[in-house]
This record gives sequence, C-alpha cells and structure tokens, in this order.
Amino acid sequence: MVPELPEVETIRRHLEPVVTGRRMVRVEVNHPRTTRRNIHPQDVVDRLTGAVVEELRRRGKFLFGLLDNGMTWVTHLGMSGRISVTSPLAARPKHTHFAAETDREDEIRLIDPRTFGFVAVVTPDELATFTGLGPDAFTDLPRSRSLANSLAGRTAPIKSLLLDQRLLAGLGNIYADEVLNRAGVRPTRPGGALNYEEIARLRRAIKPILSAGVAAGGTSLDDLAYSLPDGEAGGYLQRLRVYGREGDHCRRCGTVIKRVVVGGRSSFYCPTCQT
Ligand SMILES: [Zn+2]
Repeated sequence: MVPELPEVETIRRHLEPVVTGRRMVRVEVNHPRTTRRNIHPQDVVDRLTGAVVEELRRRGKFLFGLLDNGMTWVTHLGMSGRISVTSPLAARPKHTHFAAETDREDEIRLIDPRTFGFVAVVTPDELATFTGLGPDAFTDLPRSRSLANSLAGRTAPIKSLLLDQRLLAGLGNIYADEVLNRAGVRPTRPGGALNYEEIARLRRAIKPILSAGVAAGGTSLDDLAYSLPDGEAGGYLQRLRVYGREGDHCRRCGTVIKRVVVGGRSSFYCPTCQT
C-alpha cells in the first residue's frame, strides 16, 4: 500500500526523538533513483553530512527535516518505501537505498523496493519545487466554505479530487474511501455536484478518520509494505469500514460493500449509506 498521512505522521512521531538535535555523521545513498529530485544528487550526502536536524515536520505525505545549515531534508516514501530506525550494525534488508547515522549511533534507513520514494536535501529556493502541496488535511484543514469553493464546477469524481494533493495534502486511496463512507457520499459523485451540507459532512469526517488512523499507528495491509520504524505493524486495518471489504457487509446497515474503479483506483463504498 501507499503510505498516507496517518502512516507518515506515525513515522514522524517515531523519528522525531531520534533525529531532533542530532548531527548526521554518515550518509549513504545506494540507489541513483533515490536522489533523483536533487539537481546534483551528490548534494544529498554533502549537505546532510555534519548537519544537525532542528525540527521534523510533515505536510501531506512528505517529511521535512529542518537543518541547522538552512537546508531542508525532504523524504517521500512513494509507493512502498519504509523507514527503519536501527543500529548501524544491524543486518541491512534488501533495497536499503539510503542510510543516515546520527551522532548517537542510530541509523535511519529508507527501504524502497520499487524506488518511487526519494530523499532530497534542498535550499529554500529549491524547496519551492515541492510546495505544489495544498493545505495539510490534518493540521491545516480548510473550512467548508473554502472546500466548497475548490469543488465548485469540478466534474471529476469526488474521490479523485480528494486524492489531488494540490487541493488537500495527505489523503490516499484508503483514507479517502473511509472519509467518503463516514460522510455518506459516493466516490463517483462529481465534486461540483456536492451540496454544502455534504461538503460540511465530508470536512467533518476527515479529522476523526485521520486521528483514528494515527492513533492506531496507520494501516498495515497483509503485504506489510508499510510498518512502523521499529518494525511493528500499524493496527488500523481492523477498523476499516469499506476499504478492501468488497463483498463483506456494511457494519452499519448490513448492505454488501461494492467496489468501483474511479480514476484508475479501486474504490469501496456502501450503496445504502453512501448516496
Ligand atoms: Zn451501509
């Protein structure tokens, strides 16, 4: 699965005490694709080595480490990237494409079989390339009025619009389906066709779903592509109401959950609860 906001926030909370105030003493890049977002890929090693992480932030599915040299250490997990915090002496799993060791001898690793993830270390100007991101869905959720303005006239399905990181940063396929279920809105409805009450319900559904996801440590599906930095599985899978439950019964009304493809992505919904 693709790590979404709750998974990335879970990782941030684990990483924060490990990296904050720590100097990065050794940085390794083991796959050229991992540093593709830097104009000069060698900059990742040069700029991060010796720098102290002052703060670790998140926006949408991105992690931003603010460094004492004015640069920002950007990490995105892509499709199936995983962060592990371990001893530098621990055996390296396959696909460990990036590793950084702190002055307290913790090693932060990016394990990324499909190499869609990346690590970048950028100047404030270069950082602008990554800021096509809309407001964070968890910490900076727009008011309903503002969401209504963004959706007005849009013919794309609401599900696809919720996945558009320029509109709202953080939701992916799993949590967008769960939010739509809680709001009682079908994923296929054109965004512009939602009335104000539906938009308000949608907005009200976002925080409880994301909070519950963060509280459970995110969602680890059976493939365990996502796990916490200490290797534990996230526990939200058992709480999903529609995602991945095609053919099962809705926990609220008993109707059989349906699957429909929206914008190329599998979407799950209850035909009774969601109109
Ligand atoms: Zn139902």
